[in-house]
Amino acid sequence: MSAKFSSQEIMELEHHYGAHNYHPLPVVLAKGEGPLVWDVEGKEYYDFLSAYSAVNQGHCHPAIVDAMVDQARKMTLTSRAFFNDQLGPYEKFVTEYFGYEKVLPMNSGAEADETALKLCRRWAYDKKGIAEGEAKIICCDGNFHGRTITIVSMSTDPDSYAGFGPFTPGFVKIPYNDVEALAEALKDPNVAGFLVEPIQGEAGVFVPDAGYLKKAYELCKANNVLFIADEVQTGIARTGKLLACDHEEVRPDILILGKALSGGVFPVSAVLADNDIMLTIKPGEHGSTFGGNPIACRVAVAALTVVKEEKLAEKAEYLGKIFREEMTAFKSEMIELVRGKGLLNAVIIKPKNGKEAWDVCVKMAENGVLAKPTHQHIIRFAPPLVITEEQLRDAIKRIQKSIAFFE
Ligand code: PLP
Repeated sequence: MSAKFSSQEIMELEHHYGAHNYHPLPVVLAKGEGPLVWDVEGKEYYDFLSAYSAVNQGHCHPAIVDAMVDQARKMTLTSRAFFNDQLGPYEKFVTEYFGYEKVLPMNSGAEADETALKLCRRWAYDKKGIAEGEAKIICCDGNFHGRTITIVSMSTDPDSYAGFGPFTPGFVKIPYNDVEALAEALKDPNVAGFLVEPIQGEAGVFVPDAGYLKKAYELCKANNVLFIADEVQTGIARTGKLLACDHEEVRPDILILGKALSGGVFPVSAVLADNDIMLTIKPGEHGSTFGGNPIACRVAVAALTVVKEEKLAEKAEYLGKIFREEMTAFKSEMIELVRGKGLLNAVIIKPKNGKEAWDVCVKMAENGVLAKPTHQHIIRFAPPLVITEEQLRDAIKRIQKSIAFFE
């Protein structure tokens, strides 16, 4: 269908008929393979966003697409009113893969976060003994957990929450990367959980100090509070380990996954926890029509298998170092800081002559690299983890050339 339209025409159609809730770069993509994508006119780009880390396994990974197509021909959806033949085997696979007793399947990252919040509250009442309606969950300034009303109730970013009140109560906001603030907040006996991103992705790839997660986890344990990790963006090999929490050997009480759980071919998310927590939710008390559907199950098994078979965590660790070394060594007045872990990195841009991160991204697109600013001055660089070293080095040259253009 898109073959009939030019990029310009397609952008105009979106502008005219679609809600204006995004501000994309002016590039219309029609095809993807591995770390590469092509626009409607056939121009090739390196994808350095990976659909916000959903496409860790690369675009259209054949093993994942095959699993999806094969399953789509047999059975797509049963709802959870009946069993389907893929869910049980997937649940066994995914719980063993991440080392938990139970999984609760959902679709989007936001839904998985909402699930974790409900689970935490229910645990608070059934297990911790907090009075009904009194449970509190600690979250961090700068967080991003999605777009629902409850989730934006936790947000400290006006773009996310302003104009969407009234908000859901029961959240305590503390500074990120601040163990003392957490210790203070944990003194409240009604606190049931601490929800944290191991690296704040949307905030601009904010990497906390070494030891922060470990100390936070220990404080939670000492106070009988659940440590809930939102690994929707950081999980599944992106940061150089299977989970970003693995860098500090922290095993979250509740683990939230999405995005790359499907390699970006299908919305699949999940919440993992042990029986003591997960079984507090009873039949009929939570769910989703599409959660745990047979296609999602097949796709997730294939996507997670690719991660191990292709050693994507190890690749992310190795290639991430090259990216940061090369970008740090590159001297430009516009580069204030390079930071990140594995292949989740950011460059902080110092505006020059009125030119900002957005202008750099437009120039990079011209030079064949796609990335997007997060906030005004930060560009996130997160290519699919299947990118080769040669491709990465080629892309780095193009990124540097684009920045140098503004010198
Ligand atoms: N949690 C984190 C850490 C995220 O980065 C995101 C999306 O960027 C979400 C949750 C929300 O995921 P979704 O857009 O699939 O609802």
